[in-house]
Amino acid sequence: MSEPALAAHLEGIPLAATMAAAARARALRAQGVDVISLSLGEPDFATPAHIIEAAHAAALRGETKYPPVDGTPALIAAVRRKFLRDSGLEFAADQVIVGHGARQIIYDALTAVLEPGCEIIVPAPYWNAYPLIARMAGAVPVFVPCSAANGFLPDPVALAAAVTLRTRFLVLNYPNNPSGAVCSAAHMAGIAEAMRPHPHVWIMCDDMYEHLIHDGQAHATMAAVAPDLAERVLTVSGVSKTYAMTGWRVGFAGGPTRLIRAMSRVQGQSTGGVSPVAQAGAVAALDGPQDLVAEMRAVYGARSRRVAAALNAVPGVACAAPAGAFYVFPRIAGLLGRRSPGGRVIASDADFTGALVEEAHVAAVHGAAFGMPGYMRLSTAAADAELDEGCRRIAAFCGALR
Ligand code: PLP
Repeated sequence: MSEPALAAHLEGIPLAATMAAAARARALRAQGVDVISLSLGEPDFATPAHIIEAAHAAALRGETKYPPVDGTPALIAAVRRKFLRDSGLEFAADQVIVGHGARQIIYDALTAVLEPGCEIIVPAPYWNAYPLIARMAGAVPVFVPCSAANGFLPDPVALAAAVTLRTRFLVLNYPNNPSGAVCSAAHMAGIAEAMRPHPHVWIMCDDMYEHLIHDGQAHATMAAVAPDLAERVLTVSGVSKTYAMTGWRVGFAGGPTRLIRAMSRVQGQSTGGVSPVAQAGAVAALDGPQDLVAEMRAVYGARSRRVAAALNAVPGVACAAPAGAFYVFPRIAGLLGRRSPGGRVIASDADFTGALVEEAHVAAVHGAAFGMPGYMRLSTAAADAELDEGCRRIAAFCGALR
C-alpha cells in the first residue's frame, strides 16, 4: 500500500532554523532546564496600551466581520500617511496592500512573480524566509555574499553580475536581519545605478527595521532614493518590530498597482484579509504617538552595544556593534575545530550553536541559516539581566572548548 503523497516541491525545504532553535529552547524549558533563548527576533516589550485600547474599541464597535482582502480603508489610509511621513513616498489607495505580517506580504509578492526556474537575487547574510519562499515557488535563490569587511553591504557590481534573463527579483533588507547593517542613501543609489540597465527585475525593499537604527544614520529606501525605478519597487514594512506587535500579524507594502493587484490575488486565495481588530490596532500604532518607538530604539541600541562589547572580550569571537535592528552577529569561525566540554565535535557554526544550547543553555541561530557560515545570530530583544547571563554563559562555554 502506498502512502498518501505530499507535494514534491516541499521536499528539501526545511523548517526555518530560527523556528527550530526556538522550538529546541522551548522543549528544554519544558524539561525544567533554565534556557536563555536569544533565537527569535521578537521585541520583549508589551504592545503599547493605546494600541490595545483601539483594537478593543473596534471589536466593541462590531468591526468583527470579514475585512476587504487588501486591508481596511482606515489602515490603507494610515499606511499611505506613514509612507509619506517617513519616506516621502506617495501611494494611491490601490498601490497599498495589508497582509498577515510582512512575512505574508513577502510570500504574496514572491508567489505573484516567481515561476519554476526563475531566479531571485539575495544578498547574504539574509533573513532566511526569502530563499525558502522562493524555493517553494520553484525558483532558484542566487546569493551575493557581503563580507563583514564591507559592512555586510552588497557590492553593486556583484549584484549586477548576478543578474540573468531569468532574474525576477532583487531583495534588499536594511537595517539587515541578521547583521544589523544599515544602507546609506549613497550606497542605495549605487545599487539603483547597477539595476537601471535591468528593467526586467523587480526590487523588494524590506524595511521592517527602518525605525530601529542606533547610530544616527537616516533610513534609505529604494523608491525614495531612485524614484525613476519606483514602477518596479515594492516597499515592505510592518508594525511587528517597531511597535512590539509581533502577535498581531499586520504588515503592509506600497508599490505599483499591477504588482499589488497580483499580490491581492495570492492573498485572496490563501488567507483573505487581516483581522479588522488587529488592523484597528495598527492604525493607532501608525497614527499615534511615536515617542515610544524612540524609547525602544534607544534600549535596543544600548543592549546591542553592551552585548557586542561582552562578546568581543571572548577570545576567538569578533562582533561588530550593529548599526540597526536588534541582533548581534558575531564571528565564531575562530572557535571551530575544537571539542565542547560535553565531548561534541564543533566543526561548524551549527555544531557550535547546537552544543551551546545543549550544554550552556543559550539558544542562538547559526550563521549558515542566514547564508553566512562561521557566524551566529543572537537577538538582543531580551532583558539586560538575561543578556548579561547569556554572554557570561557563552564566554564560559567558549573558554572551555578544547
Ligand atoms: N522581514 C524581516 C527582515 C524580518 O526579520 C521579519 C521577522 O523576523 C519579517 C520581515 C516579518 O515580520 P512580520 O511577519 O512579523 O511582519
